[in-house]
Amino acid sequence: MGCVGVTVLGSGSKGNAILVHNERSGLLIDAGFSLRETRRRMKQCGICESLVKGILVTHEHRDHVCGLRVCANHFEAPVYASRLCAEHLQAKDDKLRVNVIFTPGEEFELADFSVLPFSVQHDAVEPVGYVLSSASRKVGIAMDLGQFGQMAEYQLRSCDTLALESNHDLDLLAASKRPWRLKQRILGSHGHLSNVQSQELLEKTISDNTQNLLLVHISRECNTYELAEQGAREKLAELGRGDVSLHAAKQDEVLPTVWV
Ligand SMILES: [Zn+2]
Ligand SMILES: [Zn+2]
Repeated sequence: MGCVGVTVLGSGSKGNAILVHNERSGLLIDAGFSLRETRRRMKQCGICESLVKGILVTHEHRDHVCGLRVCANHFEAPVYASRLCAEHLQAKDDKLRVNVIFTPGEEFELADFSVLPFSVQHDAVEPVGYVLSSASRKVGIAMDLGQFGQMAEYQLRSCDTLALESNHDLDLLAASKRPWRLKQRILGSHGHLSNVQSQELLEKTISDNTQNLLLVHISRECNTYELAEQGAREKLAELGRGDVSLHAAKQDEVLPTVWV
């Protein structure tokens, strides 16, 4: 067992929550499940609730924050968000308190972790991805982004564990019954990364440090876990990195913890 674990409690358009933790403390990235469901999933993978020392919000979409206030209260964990995101969340829920407002690009300390939020392009209010470091291990998380710029590429480089969005397969999206406007939104620069874009981001960010690749926010209507995984596996082989462990995060199941 290594120093920093990443446990995807669940990921997809119906809810997202990822716990980054060591043996003493953990940070929850998004709280997109109800408290009851979040607790059930944590119990299932044997993670102690007292580990949660903070909740970091990526953006205000419901699949990322629907359990935020109740989880924060229950875990007695401070909530961290970018300024505009915090204002938006608090305007929608006057009982919610965002405890710490950060500026994307500025690193801060929280529990045993250095946290670096970085801006991403998504149809949300000041959305971010995160790089979390502890004991010289680095975890990068990029969920919900329409395209990746140099900023995301730069920040995600040299992570030991990468969690990258692999939202849709282009053919399955085109064939899906979704309205044209929604398809346009998903495909747009402020939508979601396709499998191919996810592989491009992987190619740009993989390094000698990379040990684990987690594919997150996989659409169940416009993608399959197998397709996303197969594409990433082929890309890893092409890059001569068949040694990287690869997992597709599921909506309804907790992914076993990966450690670095
Ligand atoms: Zn989402
Ligand atoms: Zn979103």
